[in-house]
Formats: sequence, structure tokens, C-alpha cells
Amino acid sequence: MIPASTFRGRRVALFGLGGSGLATAKSLDAGGADVISWDDNPAQVEAARAAGLTVGDLRGIDWAGLHALVLSPGVPLTHPKPHWTAELANSHGVEIIGDVEIFARERRSIAPGSPFIAITGTNGKSTTTALIAHVIAHSGRDAQLGGNIGTAVLTLAPPAPGRVHVVECSSYQIDLAPSLDPSAGLLLNLTPDHLDRHGSMQHYAEVKARLVEHSDIAIIGDDDDWCRGIAARLEAGGGTVERISKDHGLTDGLFAEGSMIRQAKDGVVIDLADLSAITTLRGTHNAQNAAAAIAACRTAGLSDDEIRAGLASFPGLRHRMQPVAKKGRVIFINDSKATNAEAAAPALNSYERIYWIAGGLPKEGGIAALEPFFDRVAKAYLIGEAAAGFAATIGAHAPFEISGTLDNAVLAAARDAAEDAAEMPVVLLSPACASFDQYRNFEVRGDAFVSLVSALDDSHMLIDVQNKEEQHG
Ligand code: ADP
Repeated sequence: MIPASTFRGRRVALFGLGGSGLATAKSLDAGGADVISWDDNPAQVEAARAAGLTVGDLRGIDWAGLHALVLSPGVPLTHPKPHWTAELANSHGVEIIGDVEIFARERRSIAPGSPFIAITGTNGKSTTTALIAHVIAHSGRDAQLGGNIGTAVLTLAPPAPGRVHVVECSSYQIDLAPSLDPSAGLLLNLTPDHLDRHGSMQHYAEVKARLVEHSDIAIIGDDDDWCRGIAARLEAGGGTVERISKDHGLTDGLFAEGSMIRQAKDGVVIDLADLSAITTLRGTHNAQNAAAAIAACRTAGLSDDEIRAGLASFPGLRHRMQPVAKKGRVIFINDSKATNAEAAAPALNSYERIYWIAGGLPKEGGIAALEPFFDRVAKAYLIGEAAAGFAATIGAHAPFEISGTLDNAVLAAARDAAEDAAEMPVVLLSPACASFDQYRNFEVRGDAFVSLVSALDDSHMLIDVQNKEEQHG
């Protein structure tokens, strides 16, 4: 845990006592702050009280004497409308911050200049964050992985020279971190998302840009106009920018050409890493993630050899295009996180011969957007409420069967793929649907897939089935 020593002796109100909120309250308490916590959910208030924290309804406190209001990232700051605590704070001129801000202040106070890599973007945040932490840990260094990826940042070990904090930041966390100043800030890409919480694309992009604005080096994707604009603005202001592209060559930066990541600098182009044999980094989207990760790991002092060794051993993130097993030539891929058509597209685009398990609770638009990939589908196995609708969309484009349940689908797909003469047939769970008609969430659905696959005769697991907690959801 990181005691928030920069808040010693200060009065702080905290709202939102979920996992990261509770951890933040404990950190403030351990740092010597006078912190009063609250939540709309009585059970969470009780949990905080049981943990020895001071709790109380924030409507009844003296706001004028507060140093800060600490909010959980889930609590609306501006859109659709400010939470009542934010309104009270604003009307009393009280600063509103979150746990990443507390971390940034602590780092400046106790270990200024210690390596702090912060990652954001619309897509690929968790993959890139996990990849960077893996590569750094693989080199024998101390990597602390947290933030939006699941481990609250203040539960990590405190900043120290030589210890690298690798922190995934959602736009909500950035919004609550006005002095965020990582040693390396990564902005992967920007496409419309969460606009209900940010009002407009302009505002969403402005928030995301704050992660790179005060970073010592800004590593920015060059594949969309929003990110290109931010990179140009930073450079014009004298900032250090490293550009990344998955789509085109660069004269200065890291870019993908097929599965090769290259660097161009001062008129010289060198090969940095070949991703073709790394099954956990397939697809052009992962070339973007890997190129950004390489640039970030370099800022932490790793050699290119150390980085290549780390990339090659990346186990992948659970439920995101994760190769989980092999049976003969057939590879089984768990992409349960793909809960809509857009999220399923990268997986369908990454393999040539696919036995595709899809379905669940359909989203608007179904799988019509995936039609360009249907020629890669050797056969589809349709499950859940979406089965009939998906069957109608696939129509004559590819063979399919209505399997109904995941059990039936795995057995049938494994049997059919085993008879395929292709070099690497793939049984892919990439549902393009929510899971709630049959499973509690996408993780439970993915775990069910893994256990069904591990029960097949002669399947050879590529992941440690016992240790489900080892990677981060
Ligand atoms: P995030 O943490 O930003 O939600 P993840 O790393 O968890 O992203 O990836 C979620 C899904 O998004 C993946 O299964 C993949 O389909 C897609 N994805 C991953 N990286 C990228 C990227 N760089 N660009 C576009 N899509 C991506």
C-alpha cells in the first residue's frame, strides 16, 4: 500500500467506496489525513466502517474546511450531470481528485523522477499495460501493474528509484488527476466511446490528451486525426513526442510493416521486433500495442534484446484473443471479452480458418458489420438468444449450426476443426454478444470455455488453468 503522506493533517472527503475507493480511503488514513468517507450503498459504508475508517454522510459536513473531495472514477464529474458531491465541492471551491492524482503527488514527494508509465486510449489499454509490465518484469526489474486494469494504484508498492509503475488510466481517472505527470505517457488511439460521460468527442479527446501533456515523453498513436492533432500540438509546444503507427511508415517513430516493428530515426530504419511467431500478439491492433510498449520499455532503460525477450514470452490477457490450448494443429482462442461486433472484428481478422463460436445476448446491429470476415469462417456454432438472428445474417455466406450452448459448440467445433487440413485451424470463442443470457459475465463465459477445452481428449493447455488470477481483467 502507498500511504498518501502528502495529505497528512488535511481534511478530505471521499465518495465511492468500491474496491479502489476503499483502497484510497485506507491510503489517505495511513498517510495521516483526516478522511471521512461515504457511499450511496449502505453495504459499502459498512465495509469501510468495519475496516476502521471514519464514515459519515457528506451532506452534513463542513465543506468550507475541506482540502479535497476524492471521487471514485465511476462517479460522474460533469456528464450527464455532476454528482451531488461534485456540486457541493464546486460551490465551496474544493478541489476534486481521484486516486491517480494522489499517486502522482506521492511520487513527486517521495521519489521524483522514478519511472511511471501511464497508458490510455480508446482501445488496447489493458493489453498494452499488461504487456509493458510483463516485459519489464521479465527483464528482472520491479514492475508495479495497476490502475484501471484492476489493481487499485494505491495498493501497489510505493514509488522508488528503479521501481517502475505501469498504470492504465481510463478517461475518468485522467479527469480526476489534474497534475498527472508520468515519465512516459502513452495515448494509443482515439475513437468515439463513452460520449455519454464526456458530452462530446472534443471533450473526450481533451481529457485523454491530459495524460500526455505533462509527461516527460509522450508516446502517441499516429493512426487517427485526434491523436495526430494532439501530437502536433505537444511538439509545437516543445514537448518530446514518439509517434507510433500500425497503418503507415514514419520518418521518425516506431511503425509496423506486417508483423515487423521498425524504427525510423535520422534517416535510418532498423528492425526492432518480429511479432509473427508471438501468438498472443496477432493482428494489426496488437502491432500498435506492441510498438507503443517497446517505446515505453525503452524509456524505462530496457535494452532492445530485453524487450524482444519479454515480447516473445507475453502470456496474453485473459479473455482477449488469448490462445488457451492446442489439440493437434488446432488452436483454441478465448476472446470472450468481445461483447459486440466491433470487438470481435480484430479476432476474425487475425486468423485464416476459423471455427467460430458466437452468440449470447445480441447487441444492436448484431453481426452484420462482420460480413467482410465471413469467408474466413469454416463454420459458425451459434449459441444463446442471438443464435437464430445470427444464423439469418450468416445465411449462405458460411456454414453454421445452432448449437444452443457453449458445451455443444465446443464439442462440435473441436470435432470439425480436427478434420480440417489447413495449417492452423482455429476454434475461436468471440461471441460478439453480451453473456448475460447464459453467464454472469464475460469472464465466467471465458472460464467455461477454457474448462470445456481442457476436458477434451488430448488437448494441451497453453495457460495455467489453476491460476486464473495471474492476469488481469
Ligand atoms: P481496453 O483496455 O482499452 O478496453 P483491451 O486491451 O482490453 O482494451 O482490448 C479489448 C479489445 O479491443 C481486444 O479484444 C481487441 O479486440 C481490441 N483491441 C485491442 N487493442 C486494440 C487497438 N490497439 N486498437 C483497436 N482495438 C484493439
